Parts: sequence; structure tokens; C-alpha cells
Amino acid sequence: MRLSTAFVPTLKETPTDATIPSHQLMLRAGLMRQLTSGVYSYLPLGYRAMMKAMAIVRQEMDAIGGQEFQLPALNPEALWVQTGRRNVPNFILSVKERDLVLAPTHEEVIGYLASMHIQSYKDLPQIWYQIQTKFRNEPRPRSGVLRGRQFIMKDAYTLDRSWEDLDKGYEAHAGAYRRIFSRCGLDFFVVGASSGAMGGTGSQEFMIESKFGEDTVARCRSCGYASNLEVATSGVAPVGKTGNNGPTEEIHTPNVRTIDELVTFLKVDHSRLAKSVVYRHDGKPVLLLMMGNDQLNESKLTAILGGGDISAMPAEDLRVLTGADGGSIGPVGLKGFRIIADKRLEGANGLVSGANRNDYHLANIDLSRDAVIERYADLRTVEDGEPCPKCGKPLVVSNAIELGHIFKLGTKYSEALNIRFLDENGQSQLVIMGSYGIGIERIVACALEQSHDENGIIWPKSIAPYQVHLIGVNMSNPAVAEQANLLYDGLTKAGVEVLFDDRANISPGFKFKDADLLGMPIHVIVGEKGLKNQQVEIKRRATGERTMIPLAGAAEAIRNITTN
Ligand code: ATP
Ligand code: MG
Repeated sequence: MRLSTAFVPTLKETPTDATIPSHQLMLRAGLMRQLTSGVYSYLPLGYRAMMKAMAIVRQEMDAIGGQEFQLPALNPEALWVQTGRRNVPNFILSVKERDLVLAPTHEEVIGYLASMHIQSYKDLPQIWYQIQTKFRNEPRPRSGVLRGRQFIMKDAYTLDRSWEDLDKGYEAHAGAYRRIFSRCGLDFFVVGASSGAMGGTGSQEFMIESKFGEDTVARCRSCGYASNLEVATSGVAPVGKTGNNGPTEEIHTPNVRTIDELVTFLKVDHSRLAKSVVYRHDGKPVLLLMMGNDQLNESKLTAILGGGDISAMPAEDLRVLTGADGGSIGPVGLKGFRIIADKRLEGANGLVSGANRNDYHLANIDLSRDAVIERYADLRTVEDGEPCPKCGKPLVVSNAIELGHIFKLGTKYSEALNIRFLDENGQSQLVIMGSYGIGIERIVACALEQSHDENGIIWPKSIAPYQVHLIGVNMSNPAVAEQANLLYDGLTKAGVEVLFDDRANISPGFKFKDADLLGMPIHVIVGEKGLKNQQVEIKRRATGERTMIPLAGAAEAIRNITTN
């Protein structure tokens, strides 16, 4: 491709609305442009990188026996009502006039096809996949293409007759994902994950570490335990019993509102305080009891409550229900609330909590004696430095970006959509499903997050839009123009992907800056100085290493460099 006629709108300045490197670089290097919030046009260079990533994904999916589909983005709304996902928050964009929705994922359509056409155990297993545009009602798209309202996903689905076969399909995908992300040049890791809106029995996410990531993960450098904070656990000690087991006692605690103020006021340890967090689940009040400053984990809460409408209770509602404010709520004698306590508080006594009237707390609470706790469950968010649940070494909590997610769905969709097969004994059984996603934009953007310097992009070879950036330094010099053009033709004939900076009247400095910004792996420089010695210069973008090679046979030599 000749840069003189190519559409590569590079920018000299970093756009101020882009705050993370991949977003800045995609704009500066002319890879994409925003159309409206969360919606992007992919320009030729950016789309070439995405097509490379898609080709790798396709190869690895085909290698595990995947069969490629192209399913419709427009779905009948009724299908989503049938699976109970029509109203999942932030999920579905709809086309009201025709009762259609824009599909955010494709379990429904796959399930519909399977319910119509899978008949017997002989039809199973199946691996069905596609690479297709998805739509999501993301409330706050940001970070460029990392979170769009429209994005390209590789989504795959397994259909199996047994749980053992599901495990096999799941492991095959885990292997394919490792190969895909390695081939794309990404430094990734895998974490145990929550099944979220998908439902299911097990899932893992493929992540890159990034301070700009919207996910948080806990990892143990010692034994390799790794988990999304949505489901991470740690080896923190339970609160346990104290010797003191007297009756409860009301204490006047004027103007003491926070846990820290209470610690100072009562001169007790955080671990003896039971903090109340108040929610509504499908309208009904629920009190979550946490130790001291432990943070309630909403993902865990959602899983424990089994989904539904879950929201923090506004202060006014709480006052109407109890006559007290949040800081004075406690589990003893609280009417009309379900109470779920964090596991850490199981069997604890000698606790202090709100007395359900303002400015008073209750001390000496023995939860099993004084309160009606519906259940103890893991509700807390793991914090940096807590002991690993497996080996006890400190956990490291950091931010990460999710590249892909694999789920064992089980029979949730088979039940909703009646996806059945006849087994060897002629018995009707539910098909067991798995679902596996990869964000194509995320592959490209994460590669840029991990591989750039102050001058621009450093493309991993496997997804670089072009392998070679050929620079005719001064194209108004006829000798340079002639040799650069010859080399361009030679490389193109040799099957090398070349971006050729053949622009006239552009300063060498500007051309070199653009080449660094665009970031192709190999730069080939044809200039007056080199030509004097019948040579051209090779620069490797990643290392900056420069070598001179003979002009004669240069195309062949460069082809060899790019294929090694
Ligand atoms: P996230 O937790 O980041 O919102 P998700 O859990 O909703 O993602 P999945 O439903 O598992 O994502 O989708 C599969 C893959 O699609 C993700 O791993 C991610 O790579 C990609 N993806 C999801 N949402 C978006 C989005 N809004 N923009 C770009 N890619 C996305
Ligand atoms: Mg996810």
C-alpha cells in the first residue's frame, strides 16, 4: 500500500479525550475514529490488525473442531423474554418498532437452532462459533474500543450429552484461547471468574494486567492462585469467640457514625464490630452483616441471592422502615429484614452493632443467641496482602482487562428453550451447554497497551497491519524514487505486506516519526546515503536495532527477515 494514496489520518497531538495508551494510539495512528459514544469506525490500518486477529482466532477454533456460523444480530425480543434475559441491566439495545433486539451474545439463537435440529445423542457433541458484531447497552463506554456499545466478538458454544463431554469441550477451548492469545503476542493470565448474567457452573477469564483495567483480580505469586475479585476468597481469620459472654448491653454513642469512629470511641478492635449494610432484593429488605471495615462484594451478593432486582436501600427508606439511620442499624430485634451474615462472623460473640435507634449501639452480641441469621455466606471483598486461600502467602490485588471468558453454562438455556436429545435408551435429556467469548477489539487494544513506547505502536508481528514499512527518504531524488519503487514491487511480488511511504515533499524526520507511530515490525529505509554504497537500511521497530543490507537481493533478504 502506498501511503501517498492510503487513508491513514495520523494525528500529531494526542487527543485530550483519550486517557489510556491504546485509545490514544488508535486515534493517533489513524486506526479508528469514534462515530458516537461507544461506537467506532475501523479505518483500513486498524481493520487489517483486527482481521489478522480474527484469522488467528478462526484457525484455532477450526483446529478444535469448531464450525463457523454467521448468526443474525437482529433477534426477536420474545426469544430473550423466554430465557429471562430481556431485562438484564445494561445488556440489551432494542428496536422498539418491530419488537426486535440487537443481540449482545448468542446463546438464545444457538439454543433456538439446537432445539429445532438436535435430535439424538448421535448429533452431539457440537462446537458452533461465529465472529460477529455484538451490541450492548453499556451505560458509560470509555477507554476507546475496550468497551464499546458495538463490538466484534468471537462467540462459541458447545452442545454436549454429558457433563464429562462439557468438561472436554471447555478444556479444548481453554487450550485454544491460550494459543490464540500467545500467537497474538499477549502477556496474559487466567483467573477463576463469576458467571454473572450468563448463569452456569464454572468459568474462567483470560486477562492482561493493566492499571486501566475495569476488572480487579487477586493473584498469588507463590502458588499461582488467581481469581477475579468478584469471586476471590482469602485465608483471613474468622472473628471467633471471646471469653466474655455476658448479656447484651446498650451503649450511648452520640455522633458516632462510622466504624472507625466507633473503634476510637469504644476502644475495641475492628474485628469485634458487626457493620450493617442494607439492600433491597426484589423490593424486600435484606441486612448484610459484615465484620468491621470489610467491604460487601456485590457480585457475591448477587450470586447468593440468586439474581433478581438488587439495590442498596436509600437512607430515607431505611429511616421509614426502622426509625434509625444506616450507622445505627443492627441485627438484634430488627423486624421485617432477612439477615445474611458474612462467613467470617459465624459463631462470633462479644460483637458491637447498631441498636436500631440513633446514637445507640448494642454490645456483647452473640449472633447465634441474639439474632436470627438466615445464613452465613462469603460476602466480603478480598483485599491486597491478605493470605492466599491455598498457600497462605500474601495475595496481590491489581487491575486487569478481560480478553476472553469461558463458561460452563450447564442446562440453564436448555431448560428455558427446551433443547433436548434422545439418549441411547431413547430417554429425552437436556443438552448441556458451554459458551466462550473473545473480544476482537480487546485483542488489538490490549496488544497496544502492552507493546508501545513514547514514539508510538510496536506491533506484535502476528497482528501488525503490514510487516514492512518502506520509507523512500527523499522521493524527489530520482535515484531514491527509482530504487524505492523497485524494492516496493519486489517485496510485493515476494508476498511481503508493505506499507510504502512514497510521499513527496515530506521531510525525512516527519516520515521517520510516522513510521515509529504506525509501528510496523520492520522499517526499510531507502536513502541517498545508503544508495551511494548500494545499500538500504533495516530498522527493527521493537529494539531500534539498525543494519545495512545490500540493495541487490534486498527484497529476498527482507522477506526472510519477516518470515523468521
Ligand atoms: P466485561 O466484564 O468487560 O463487561 P463481559 O463479562 O460482559 O465483559 P462477556 O459477556 O464474557 O463479557 O463477553 C465476551 C468477551 O467480549 C469479553 O471477554 C470481552 O473480550 C468482550 N466484550 C464484552 N463486552 C465488551 C464491550 N462492551 N466492548 C468490547 N468488548 C467487549
Ligand atoms: Mg466477564
